Amino acid sequence: MTGSGLRRLQLPTSWGELGLVGGSRAGEGTLILLPQLGLALDAGRPHRALPAMTTVLASHGHVDHVGGIGYWASQRQLQAMGPARLVVPREIAADITTLLATHARLEGGEPYAVEIVAADAGSRLALRREMELEFFATDHWVPTLGSLLRWRRHHLLPELAGLEGDEIAARRRAGRPVTEPVETALLAYCADSGPGVLAPGSPALGAEVLLLECSFFKAGDRERAARYGHLHLEELLARAAELGCRHLVLLHASRRHRLREVETILDEQLRPALPCALHHLMVDWD
Ligand SMILES: [Zn+2]
Ligand SMILES: [Zn+2]
Repeated sequence: MTGSGLRRLQLPTSWGELGLVGGSRAGEGTLILLPQLGLALDAGRPHRALPAMTTVLASHGHVDHVGGIGYWASQRQLQAMGPARLVVPREIAADITTLLATHARLEGGEPYAVEIVAADAGSRLALRREMELEFFATDHWVPTLGSLLRWRRHHLLPELAGLEGDEIAARRRAGRPVTEPVETALLAYCADSGPGVLAPGSPALGAEVLLLECSFFKAGDRERAARYGHLHLEELLARAAELGCRHLVLLHASRRHRLREVETILDEQLRPALPCALHHLMVDWD
């Protein structure tokens, strides 16, 4: 826990230590920041750490995932922090554009310097050098996009590994290939989602860090989880042994459970079943 009410994780990945700062609770707000990349994965509530983010993904239109975007855009304007991007599912792009325009008009100022980017499942967005996001649909009950953070760089072709630098330079000058692209799925954010994101072939399963909601924990909540397109602990337990990620980060516990109770359930039931490290970014918002 940080002094700001958010939790902080430093996760070793093949790229290096990836820092995650965030807080999440179903219905109350999910806010996940990757400060190294200037990226927010949902902005469900205002927070002082939010305005510094230059790209915000709004996974879907529920207020616990977009409740902080007005504050984010307004604070950036007020502090002259420059242009930024808000990435949203195409189905809600027009409504989100209207929402931000309305906030700006109510404040009596210029329109916010925020570009609304309409994303589709399968589309990609360059984030910064060597980093891009790819979007995928989840099985929540409204249009929802998860996102995959990909690290793309070039490696020397393996057959050139023993060559001197000037020989490689000569090959390059001659227009012959000397490198090949290498891609690593560093992180998958599954937003609000039913069990579809855990099905075989799901794009989320190849990522080193898997951010997954787990809203419900009790047997009596199975039907509620299915109806509203959320994950239940039992679905996670059924797939736990097959997870290929290095870090599983859980989000979005329902307020039907106290945080302490959730942590006990995770320690006793899920952690022993997992082949990877288990973390969470769930908080009790004030
Ligand atoms: Zn939610
Ligand atoms: Zn939702």
